[in-house]
Amino acid sequence: MSLPATHLSAPSPSTSTRSGSLLSAPDFLHAITELTSGSALDAPELVQIIATARADGELRETLCQMASDLRDRIYGRRVFFRGLIEFSNYCANDCFYCGIRAGNNTVNRYRLSLEDILSSCQAGYELGYRTFVLQSGEDPYFTDDRMVAIIQEIHHRYPDCAITLSIGEKDRASYQRFFDAGANRYLLRHESATPEHYAMLHPSELDLLNRKRCLYDLMDIGYQTGAGFMVGPPGQTAEHLANDLIFLRELQPHMVGIGPFLPASNTPFATEPAGSVEDTLIMVALTRLTLPAALIPATTALGSLDHKGREKGLKAGANVVMPNLTPTINRKDYSLYDGKICTGDEAAECRVCIEGRIRSVGFDIDLSRGDHLTYNP
Ligand code: SF4
Repeated sequence: MSLPATHLSAPSPSTSTRSGSLLSAPDFLHAITELTSGSALDAPELVQIIATARADGELRETLCQMASDLRDRIYGRRVFFRGLIEFSNYCANDCFYCGIRAGNNTVNRYRLSLEDILSSCQAGYELGYRTFVLQSGEDPYFTDDRMVAIIQEIHHRYPDCAITLSIGEKDRASYQRFFDAGANRYLLRHESATPEHYAMLHPSELDLLNRKRCLYDLMDIGYQTGAGFMVGPPGQTAEHLANDLIFLRELQPHMVGIGPFLPASNTPFATEPAGSVEDTLIMVALTRLTLPAALIPATTALGSLDHKGREKGLKAGANVVMPNLTPTINRKDYSLYDGKICTGDEAAECRVCIEGRIRSVGFDIDLSRGDHLTYNP
């Protein structure tokens, strides 16, 4: 399909677009209806949609409403809970944007013991959570054998719970071992589907091809797989965001994490401006239209940028929240970016707070495992 350009406008200050052309309201509505009905729009068409939604607040609202309506038709007004356990902030990598990168020697490093991890699971289980997300940097201490032991123990104690891993790039054999041990889901944001932009965000040891290889392996093994990206990191353009949507359409992940870029102290990007709430909501909404059945979190990063950010994320098509189960003594040390919220609350306080926020915008809480629609146990 081709989308006519009707007038010109300056690009958004946070991200540039080479096309610069915007859509009229009828053409915008036509384009997002096409997207909703499964049309494979190309990159220039997606760039026009993104640029128009940035420039016109009313059309942006319409986009978010369409995404929200689509989510309602598929999952209803339910918001799924995932209990997040940040079990190690050691990392061998040096991603330029990340507060716990190896090169940041101001970080107070910690690793949770198996007992601490299991206590966190127990606290989450008592709060009703039926998904645990085990997240860490790429920490060599947690060898495959150690990870398998942790997964097996959680699976043994909580057979009715889903186990999600978010521990970075591994070879296929490792992913298979974790899956066989009882892990069901894996989160690995691709961060940027454009090789040159990926290279601006990561040191040369990390490359997009391997990141994609990991994601395809995870899908192939049978994980419910999550990809995702930041909105507004240095160097990002609307073309890059369009490429992210196209990659998601190709990969067909079950989950997509999208949050604004937020600068972290003592990193190469420490003084860069944050991404915007509006741009993030646009990408949440467009992701919902691209992958109607995706599980999309209203991220903590969005809530850190705007105190109503998670509520806005839900209203733009998100349907997952990830309250924190990490022991409070360690939470502040898992600082991927500055200003992260919820670092001081006990797990039970997090649950009450987040539940209130969800209900305040007309959604219901759902404490089931919250599998993707296509999942067959
Ligand atoms: S983004 Fe992940 S892999 Fe990169 S430095 Fe941070 S924790 Fe490590």
